[in-house]
Amino acid sequence: MNCENSGNPNPGGTGHPFTVEMKEVIPAPPPIVRNDVAAIQALFQKHVVPSYGRFDLVLSHGSGSYVWDVTGKRYLDLGAGIAVCALGHAHPAITEAFVEQSRRLVHVSNLYYHEPQGRLAEAIVTLLAPGKVFFGNSGAEANEGLFKLARKFGHAEGRFEILTAHNSFHGRTLAGIAATGQEKVKKGFGPMVPGFRHVPYNDLDAVRKAISPATVAVLIEGVQGEGGITPAAPDYLLGLRDLCNEKKLLLLMDGVQDGHFRTGRFQSFQRILEGATNGKPFLPDGLSMAKSLGGGFPIGAFWVREPHADLLGPGTHASTFGGTPLGCAVALKVFQVIERERLDENVRRVGDFLRIELSRLVEKIPTVFKSVRGLGLMIGIELASNIPALAKEEKAASLQFVNRLHSAGLLTIPAGLNVVRLLPPLNLSLAEAEEGVRIIERVAVNLGA
Ligand SMILES: *Cc1c(COP(=O)(O)O)cnc(C)c1O
Repeated sequence: MNCENSGNPNPGGTGHPFTVEMKEVIPAPPPIVRNDVAAIQALFQKHVVPSYGRFDLVLSHGSGSYVWDVTGKRYLDLGAGIAVCALGHAHPAITEAFVEQSRRLVHVSNLYYHEPQGRLAEAIVTLLAPGKVFFGNSGAEANEGLFKLARKFGHAEGRFEILTAHNSFHGRTLAGIAATGQEKVKKGFGPMVPGFRHVPYNDLDAVRKAISPATVAVLIEGVQGEGGITPAAPDYLLGLRDLCNEKKLLLLMDGVQDGHFRTGRFQSFQRILEGATNGKPFLPDGLSMAKSLGGGFPIGAFWVREPHADLLGPGTHASTFGGTPLGCAVALKVFQVIERERLDENVRRVGDFLRIELSRLVEKIPTVFKSVRGLGLMIGIELASNIPALAKEEKAASLQFVNRLHSAGLLTIPAGLNVVRLLPPLNLSLAEAEEGVRIIERVAVNLGA
């Protein structure tokens, strides 16, 4: 299909593309039998802060929708680095953008102007609505910008409080964990940054009741990602917009995971509200982005709508690495490829296929699967409770299932205790999707037997 780099030019992981041909003047030494898995894991155990629960895989390289581990085993990657590698791995257009831009200018700081940042901001504004963009490096940093924007907005009236949803995820900085509606990210890090309160998701009344004189904004994900792939209801979004207008609150959306065409439109609210607004325009006041924005290059951003676009004036907010020429050139290239290859349409086509096929599996193997939900290429498979074969171990069912998929050659991402997420590259082909479904089916049939 429309993937430029389908097929794997480098299956065994040997032979670096830039290796220089060398004349063999001395005989090659005898091969050293290495255990790269153990050696690399030992480096981590010794030198890397153990803040991540890592899977037992040591990856070496990728191409398109596939990655290889250091033992040479191939995996179909339906996780894409947690919704980051929008064009898959080692996409030639991204490589080209890297090489071209790095020959000209990698970094200059935000003391100066440069074209790529201006062009990337223009591209984002064009896809959303009149407003302006601030660039940082991550999702958490993008959300921090929104928090500061909200505080600035309410400062003169002494308003500062931001309402967020139960089960939300907004990043791991101090304000990010305060904003996140999950206890597990806060444990051990108190006292929390003040000014955040959580309300049930998809419950407009709960927001209305929670608003206090100090409330200044509401922040939600259009589709909760870490919380287990839960889309907002159209009425919820429309109701929030009215409520925020009425109470003079900013409506902020965290589009870090569900954005960048993952649902088939640039932002998830655009997809969710298709045919649901009765011609009434809907826009959030601010929106954060990161994950897929750079297709793997770390870049984050927030967009803020007019008339709030100049709230953060000179000297109020900054990021040394924010919006470098290199990051912006790569992000622009990702936009170009998505548009040129009509990947928004591919997301819908392949996403629909996956949901239909996975729903069949739910019917066929109810002892293992409970439900399938999501939008576009953001899909959550909910596992049945108490799968006998997974009851022996203490580990969460989602983790155990993901581990079994690894053995079968498939990468997916757990969400919570019983949801397995698919967040594949936006250029995933139907054949690759089919391959993924067959692997999931095989693992589930073995498990149910
Ligand atoms: C991943 C994620 C974040 C945090 O992004 P980082 O780049 O890890 O800081 C914030 N919000 C949502 C919805 C996310 O999925």
